[in-house]
Amino acid sequence: MSTQRSEAGRALIVGAGVAGLTAALRLHRGGWEVLVVEKASGNRNGGTWISFRGVGYQAAERLGILPQLIEAQLPWEDIHMLDTDGRLRVVWRAATQLALMNEPTLHIPRDKIADILLDALDGEVKIEYGTTVSSITQDESGAEVVLSNGVSDRFDLVIGADGVNSVVRELAFGPEAEFRTDFGDLLAIYNLERSPVDTGVEHLLSGVGRMIAVSRLGDTFSVIFLWTSTDLAGDLSTDLSKAVRRRFEDLGWAVPALLKEAEAVPSAYYGPVSQIKMDTWSQGRVVLVGDAAWCTGFYAGFGASLAVGGADLLGDVLERHPGDIPTALREWEAEYRPIALKVQAQARRGRESFFLPPTEFAIKLRTIFLWIAGNSVTTRLLRLFMGVRSPK
Ligand SMILES: Cc1cc2nc3c(=O)[nH]c(=O)nc-3n(C[C@H](O)[C@H](O)[C@H](O)COP(=O)(O)OP(=O)(O)OC[C@H]3O[C@@H](n4cnc5c(N)ncnc54)[C@H](O)[C@@H]3O)c2cc1C
Repeated sequence: MSTQRSEAGRALIVGAGVAGLTAALRLHRGGWEVLVVEKASGNRNGGTWISFRGVGYQAAERLGILPQLIEAQLPWEDIHMLDTDGRLRVVWRAATQLALMNEPTLHIPRDKIADILLDALDGEVKIEYGTTVSSITQDESGAEVVLSNGVSDRFDLVIGADGVNSVVRELAFGPEAEFRTDFGDLLAIYNLERSPVDTGVEHLLSGVGRMIAVSRLGDTFSVIFLWTSTDLAGDLSTDLSKAVRRRFEDLGWAVPALLKEAEAVPSAYYGPVSQIKMDTWSQGRVVLVGDAAWCTGFYAGFGASLAVGGADLLGDVLERHPGDIPTALREWEAEYRPIALKVQAQARRGRESFFLPPTEFAIKLRTIFLWIAGNSVTTRLLRLFMGVRSPK
């Protein structure tokens, strides 16, 4: 590891996900001495593909990691929308998906973004894996932090990038229940070595209150089980595979084989789909970024883009106001809050209109919309109506 710099100050970043690694890269480049602590024992792989775009794409360009992201992107694929018996409702063609995009968008596995950020850090920032924060005590000029490895240290800034169940939020702002709103849905994403439906297209099976999506991620696959739970706490206290099986085992098609493949996987990304809503993202010398601050929930498909954009902007405003952290944090929040709130609203709409339509009728309406939108004449009309310009 190369020499740490501290002209700008010393920052502790809690969480080495997309938000934490972006913050580490941007602050390190801004002259901060940065320490990252991550609870997991190593880089957390897994997840499915995401659409990387907007503020995230622009930040990636500024951070110089765009060429690597472009290289890691996957081809867009047709999505076969199925009913619960596996019958084809409609094909949501890759060409239509692309035609309706009005900004450059990368179709990329979530964990590739973290890998690329780690590569960009090039060992320049120390990351303590298997470590978290146990306590934070603040005064006017800094924060005293005790880490789970027993080390006590003082920092000018503590950045909580520790995701939706943030411990930093709990320590500095209060209990999670005050800030978390659940949609009532549970999401389990598994990464599979092989897929029983490897046909070169994506599959998205929908019934009222449940959805399965199978996607190819290069040489591997992901399967998503998403369902509205009638007993969130009960489902969460049940073994995951039992909870998934209970909700999906009555289905035909490839579902029995997918359940079997999923059960053989040692771990999954699993939990309730939630949003985090806070009146402020900073408290003195502690600031939250990414899902810890504004988790939008799975339905916007924008969590990673928003995390990269927000963490990069945080580094920018800190550089604009050297030595004046309170002003920087106020300016950052004023600039970024409207963006995050807009995505949270999009997520709420996306849940009902695309991922979990509330009735069979709503699923039929979605099918009709996708069918109409897929016609080349209507696609062109929709592009005109939506003011879509081809991405450069
Ligand atoms: C394994 C995994 C798979 C995912 N898959 C998808 C997906 O397929 N689709 C999707 O839309 N979103 C997915 N997400 C969420 C997505 O990454 C985020 O919504 C988005 O990238 C914002 O990232 P974040 O860094 O704020 O939060 P996260 O990605 O959740 O990262 C938070 C990091 O903090 C660490 N951490 C948590 N608690 C502590 C603690 N107390 N101390 C130290 N470290 C801590 C976590 O281990 C994690 O590395 C996934 C997240 C993970 C971790």
